[in-house]
Amino acid sequence: MWGRARKGNFNKKKAHETFRPVSPCDMPAMKSLVENFSEAACFYDFYGNALHVNDRFRELLGFGESEQAMLDAGLKQLFRHFRQDTVLDGQPQIYNDRIARKDGPCVPIRVTHIPLIVAGERLGSFCFLCPTQETDAPKLSAVVKGWFQEIVNRLEIAVGLVDMSDKKVTFVSDAIQKICEIPAEDIDFRTWCNIVHPDDLESVIARQSELREIGEVVHRYRILTPSGKLKWVKDHSLALKKETGEITAAVVTLEDITEQNLLENKLHTIAFIDELTQLQNNHSARKVLEEWMGEHAHNGETFAILRLNLDHFTKINDLFGHAVGDEMIKRIAKRMKDAVKENGIVFRLLGDDFCILARHRNRVESYEELAETILEAVGVVLPFRGYDFHLTACIGISLFPSDGKSSTRLMKNARTALKRAKQLGPGNALIYSRSMNIESFKSFELENDLRNAVKNRELYFEYQPKIEAKTQKAVGAEALIRWKHPTWGIVSPSEFMKIAEETTLIHQISDLVMESVCRQAGYWITKNVPFQFISFNLSAKDFLKRDLGKRIKRRLDKYGVPPERLEIEITEGAMLQTSETVEQQMKDLKALGVTIALDDFGVGYSSLSHLKRFPVDTIKIDRSFVDSVSGNEQDEKIVQSLIDLGIGLNKKVVTEGVETREQYELLKKMGCHVIQGFLFSKSVSPAAMEEIFREETVPLKKGAGKPPIERRRYSRIDLPLPLGVKMTMISLNNKSVSLGSTEVLVNNIGVGGLRLLSRLRLTAQADILYRFEVDFMNTAVKGVGKIVWAKEIQKDVFCYGVEFSMPEREKEHWSETLNRWKSRLGSNDILKEARFITEDPVAYLRTARTIMSEP
Ligand code: C2E
Ligand code: CA
Ligand code: CA
Repeated sequence: MWGRARKGNFNKKKAHETFRPVSPCDMPAMKSLVENFSEAACFYDFYGNALHVNDRFRELLGFGESEQAMLDAGLKQLFRHFRQDTVLDGQPQIYNDRIARKDGPCVPIRVTHIPLIVAGERLGSFCFLCPTQETDAPKLSAVVKGWFQEIVNRLEIAVGLVDMSDKKVTFVSDAIQKICEIPAEDIDFRTWCNIVHPDDLESVIARQSELREIGEVVHRYRILTPSGKLKWVKDHSLALKKETGEITAAVVTLEDITEQNLLENKLHTIAFIDELTQLQNNHSARKVLEEWMGEHAHNGETFAILRLNLDHFTKINDLFGHAVGDEMIKRIAKRMKDAVKENGIVFRLLGDDFCILARHRNRVESYEELAETILEAVGVVLPFRGYDFHLTACIGISLFPSDGKSSTRLMKNARTALKRAKQLGPGNALIYSRSMNIESFKSFELENDLRNAVKNRELYFEYQPKIEAKTQKAVGAEALIRWKHPTWGIVSPSEFMKIAEETTLIHQISDLVMESVCRQAGYWITKNVPFQFISFNLSAKDFLKRDLGKRIKRRLDKYGVPPERLEIEITEGAMLQTSETVEQQMKDLKALGVTIALDDFGVGYSSLSHLKRFPVDTIKIDRSFVDSVSGNEQDEKIVQSLIDLGIGLNKKVVTEGVETREQYELLKKMGCHVIQGFLFSKSVSPAAMEEIFREETVPLKKGAGKPPIERRRYSRIDLPLPLGVKMTMISLNNKSVSLGSTEVLVNNIGVGGLRLLSRLRLTAQADILYRFEVDFMNTAVKGVGKIVWAKEIQKDVFCYGVEFSMPEREKEHWSETLNRWKSRLGSNDILKEARFITEDPVAYLRTARTIMSEP
């Protein structure tokens, strides 16, 4: 209605956006309105073009009906003082002016502009002219008031004018009676105060003074009508100012928004409240989470998201039906709410998934305590229809900001913590960061970074030569993917290819492999580099995509590589999937002319039927056989029979992981065709590989299989048995991390450091610090250090050298402790003193379940 405020300059572009031109169907109404005014009146659009002008208006300016053009010019002059921005403000404007009539004389007039705003849209303005004395103060004339009244009385919104000098209501439209049930003439400031809801009165009065300061106030409050009805109203007050800035009056519009409010509340309920439990729902949880993140982003305060899921709840649904399930959910929800009290907000996300947001706790542990309280409340026996239900739940907690800075991340991490808590068994609660050990933390980080690694070109290829056993010449090479990670250094494909295979990233990576290998092979062919073939690895997943053959063919053509110069290595796992797709892909590749090698042959699922069924050209005997080949008669026999099998089936036989001269000699004697291993070379850059191809024979590397020589400043104790020690990471790139710990086996320890065995894949890096906790003779000592060397002693089992970086004082403490140990180590009952492992350490590590424990 009148007085929709908006500041802004009156320019045409804006006008188009904010104004609706009077539509043709409004025209007759406007016309008759203007014509019926007894004052000189015109209606004009927001560009200042007069649309309707009444006779009195023309007369006053001295124009006849046919003199439209001249009239327009006259209007331009008339509007020259008109402050157009007030049209945007929607405020009436009154000023005195002098106007030149057509026939000559200048007459003083009062000009009143009243914008016409209907349903929030500005349609144009009325302009009234009234001959006046120059000394008259500009004010609304009785006539203008008359028509003003006429229009507004037809509206459902009540309009009122209040004289600000004495707060007298000088005008109020008829709608007020319908809204407040009080006749218009009885409305004054006092009656108004009486009907405003007592709880809202204070704020209504406070807004009055705001009106003086700001000039405009919109607020919603409740009124109680004489018949006892409670209504919501929207009050929009606009101060009317004189040119001097003094506030003379206020235009007030009052709208009954009771129904609108009801509807909004209803919508709100549907959108944000869970119907079954009457708890807030997942949308609401997101909303509150976002709000809290905003509030705590800068004040350094932590808050927690606890995600709760009932244990084995589907069983209740299955056994007793959904009605009982729903009832359980309802009661559990109430218990949780009672347990949490004012310490947080409980939300039901979905099914038996709940979430609690809690804050204002100064210790991280107190969130764990809250979780315990909730779990206890959930766990109390629940009698229902003659049964006693024993329900339990698990909780996963993530903390803002340490466990994530976005709502998605925080929710996801709380869920990950929940999953891990579930792994520990019913009734457990875990904080996200503590639920991770080095392994899961690293794999989580890698998972997050892999997508970008593909984009950022952090992946590249190295080549490892394949040596013909008889001639000792490099005949081929295997392309091996590498990832140079910004924090973790060179990451092994054994770590990240697993992650890639779990996502669709594997296809992007495989495309990268095919592209790089074909490009490289094509380049070597054009440079006449002497080589027979290049091998590359594909994952089982690649064989489930139907277009594999096409994708390879495209690259072969692109780089001019004959198909027989490519060899694809596939592990047996790929063949295990007996799906037709896999078989078809193999046939397609064969038809294309590329050769196929069966990788890691002999481990896992080797079976003759695979060899018969699939068209493989080469078998690659797994590294694990070679490890123990020289010296062990049993193993030698196995390798010999694998080689014989290959030869018998007319396949090329390759052995990988050859590290010593003895292994090489033996394998050559056994009839193996091709040898691959560190004895000849580790994987190298393409340029270095080219050199190797050009060599007549590839020389043997000396000391390829020996462990690194340790140069130590401090003496060490060799432990009689491997000792189980807790290891955790404490900082990465100078940022501290808080993780749970993993058990590693220590076989040698001193003041300067220790040596350990583990299945963790780690690299020697100065910017990663680890903490070790050793329990011996009832005392726990802790040491902090970094890895200085790493060596894979058997497939997926690593030996690491750790150098302690501890202050001298702590070293003294260590040295005392170690001396005491030394004296005890000879005794017979050391097994009681510490966690010594009597099994074979490698076997122990291979079978040990990853233990997750508090750091
Ligand atoms: P793989 O196909 O069995 O590759 C042989 C692995 O053994 C390579 O490790 C290689 O560096 C290592 N190796 C070779 N000779 C010796 C030796 O004498 N001693 C020892 N201790 N190790 C040796 P890498 O590069 O870490 O690759 C590990 C696995 O990652 C590969 O095993 C393969 O399954 C996978 N992989 C590597 N590159 C790719 C790729 O481009 N695509 C796919 N799908 N998988 C790949
Ligand atoms: Ca391979
Ligand atoms: Ca292999």
